[in-house]
Amino acid sequence: MRRGLYIGRFQPYHLGHEAVLQKIADEVDEIVVGLGSAQASHTLENPFTAGERISMIWPSLRGLDVTCYVIPLWDIARNAVWVSHVRAMTPNFEVVYSNNPLVVQLFAEAGVEVMRPPLYRREVYSGTAIRRMILSGDEAWMRLVPFSVLSVIEEIGGIERLKNVSRSDDS
Ligand code: ATP
Ligand code: MG
Repeated sequence: MRRGLYIGRFQPYHLGHEAVLQKIADEVDEIVVGLGSAQASHTLENPFTAGERISMIWPSLRGLDVTCYVIPLWDIARNAVWVSHVRAMTPNFEVVYSNNPLVVQLFAEAGVEVMRPPLYRREVYSGTAIRRMILSGDEAWMRLVPFSVLSVIEEIGGIERLKNVSRSDDS
């Protein structure tokens, strides 16, 4: 039994993440999705709650033919013990998939095997790029996420939320 951990904030989940997950599914028996910054929501960087992000990801995971777990991981203000924090919350895993330099560094220091999946069209498949497009009213972002993500964002009023949290009192 080989389990892989894939960590992200998924703000929002997009087709770049989906491509990575499909590749991971070919390499491991089970996938543990670590939902980072789980405590955060209603900010420019982290507009969606952990629950909303789980609803976004769930339909895609059901489409994979491996067992998947989604584990919310809240931030701790101590990188030196963060890997232990993750281990305490997740089923045992043998390999971590990430391109985030800090995540790679911390797991490598802890002696965990780390794989760096290739980036799929990173210039558009990027949470930051998608949040920027939503804010500027550029509807092209809708083609960068699975349909289930679009419907969750519509259901929760996500576009309005993102615009509102970007405003100041006098704007
Ligand atoms: P943000 O811009 O908000 O950081 P993101 O697109 O990087 O969003 P994360 O949730 O931070 O999304 O990413 C989770 C993991 O997915 C990271 O390891 C990240 O490098 C990887 N990833 C993000 N976009 C892509 C992509 N287009 N192709 C492959 N991997 C990606
Ligand atoms: Mg990122």
